[in-house]
Amino acid sequence: MSTSSPQKAAGTAEIRRIRGDGEGALTDAVAATIEDGTAESWGPQEILTWGLKNFSPGIALSCSFGAPEGLALIDMMRRIDSDSRVFVLDTGRLPQATYDLIDRVRERYQLEVEVVFPDAAAVTAMVRQHGMNLFYESVEQRQRCCGVRKVEPLNGYLGGLDAWISGLRRDQNVTRTDTRKVAIDHTHGGIVKLNPIADWSREQVMDYVRAHQVPTNRLHAKGYPSVGCDPCSRAIRPGEDQRAGRWWWENAENRECGIHFGGEGQGSGI
Ligand code: SF4
Repeated sequence: MSTSSPQKAAGTAEIRRIRGDGEGALTDAVAATIEDGTAESWGPQEILTWGLKNFSPGIALSCSFGAPEGLALIDMMRRIDSDSRVFVLDTGRLPQATYDLIDRVRERYQLEVEVVFPDAAAVTAMVRQHGMNLFYESVEQRQRCCGVRKVEPLNGYLGGLDAWISGLRRDQNVTRTDTRKVAIDHTHGGIVKLNPIADWSREQVMDYVRAHQVPTNRLHAKGYPSVGCDPCSRAIRPGEDQRAGRWWWENAENRECGIHFGGEGQGSGI
């Protein structure tokens, strides 16, 4: 399979192998669009329109409610389709500001946000064995916590979808530089992943947010460009990278929770 450039995705035969020889929502036309890289020249609204048309109702937007990217995409998507779906992973460790924002968005867009919770038994077993704040102990322990609270619930939720949408951007982190706008997500059963603003800058996102008065997390005004779980997010200092406040005690190349690994052209906010 070719994964060497953002302009080239999986071959049609490979896509069919993943999805089961033409079954499901991955029609020849959709597969061809992914294969030839056409979508790399599309703007965000074009990609959203294409995704919603081809996969609804089996497509949903993943929003952390902790970064403006996901909120901008909610605004764009709800203008295209008022039945479009949004989900959030509630790890149980989110700051109150994030919960408040979820409710603001529910009201503003008349949107039933699909809140996805971790398995209670898995969380119970983890904290009994490793403590409440295991994530500070090592990369392995942090990944264990992200696994139980984020990755496993996400895997379960995505098992019911044909496609999902994220607000990843290539310049967010060294792990995201090869993010494609439309890709096959091998980690999640070969469903399609859309990254409509992969080539946008932070400034473009903020311009959109301001122009459309999109609600965002109030912690941004306190120096948090990206808000994740409360114990794993901090404000950044002047000159620091935008992602420097997430798992700041780790090296930059480790700073992913596992949610965005494995899709084609990713390595790449939740
Ligand atoms: S971000 Fe921190 S608290 Fe949240 S799931 Fe990952 S390690 Fe656990």
